[in-house]
Amino acid sequence: MGRVQGKVAIVTGAAQGIGRATALLLAREGAAVAVTDLNGKDAEAVAEQVRAAGGKAQAWPLDVSKEAEVAATFAEVAKAFGRLDILVNNAGISGANGTVEEISEAEWDKVMNTNAKSVFLCTKHAVPLLRRAGGGSIVNLSSVYGIVGSHNVAAYHASKGAIRIMSKTDALAFAEDRIRVNSVHPGFIWTPMLEAGAQVPGVAPEAVHSAMAKLHPLGTLGEPDDVAHGILYLASDEAKFVTGSELVIDGGYTAR
Ligand code: NAP
Repeated sequence: MGRVQGKVAIVTGAAQGIGRATALLLAREGAAVAVTDLNGKDAEAVAEQVRAAGGKAQAWPLDVSKEAEVAATFAEVAKAFGRLDILVNNAGISGANGTVEEISEAEWDKVMNTNAKSVFLCTKHAVPLLRRAGGGSIVNLSSVYGIVGSHNVAAYHASKGAIRIMSKTDALAFAEDRIRVNSVHPGFIWTPMLEAGAQVPGVAPEAVHSAMAKLHPLGTLGEPDDVAHGILYLASDEAKFVTGSELVIDGGYTAR
């Protein structure tokens, strides 16, 4: 208990999946959490769950790909909670399947704007607030797909690779402000995003689930809390000497 006691955190894409698990865990460990998501109604439900358990949280509807929304929301969070110590850049989409030959410019732009441009925008508007707090932690959700390739999700790989190197660049840029920046690289985690991707016509969902699990040497899919615990570590002062690093949470997927 209390691993991020008294800190203020923004989590993006926190209405469901890994973001939701992270918001709930950070709140349980003592942080006041700004629960932000495109889906304001479900974000509000997460904030309400935190408050019902005795924690501190408030919800904001936020599209992370829109700079004006990011700037206004982050200013409101700082006003509501008095400071900012932690930013978790979690919001993301898998987007259209396909090689670069198969996807359209619009499909490419949607993934890059939601996944990568959003990290640029949210980091840009968080840094002055973190600097004012005397430092802080930014945790960026990349993926094993930001480290290794696969054959048919070209835009997603490009966006997650961009996040990986942006994290290192920002770690160097803001180290003297005592702002740490790290990336997290999950394997396949059973969330609404993966569930949607597991709809294969004519194949039972259990069979798809089991085939995905077998991609990981540990033989299972990950759970949102498996990732949330890694994010909590990077967000906390336990990781005060950790910046520009990659935390891989993948059941051995990339160990081969
Ligand atoms: P998820 O279940 O789909 O949750 C993502 C949340 O982000 C949703 O609530 C979604 O809202 C929201 N979102 C989408 N576009 C947004 C935008 N423009 N602005 C604000 N919020 C937006 O996804 P997840 O599986 O938890 O993934 C979370 C992060 O981990 C993503 O960055 C993902 O790429 C990464 N990751 C996931 C896995 C995995 O296997 N699940 C593996 C590696 C990395 P809507 O539902 O309304 O669109």
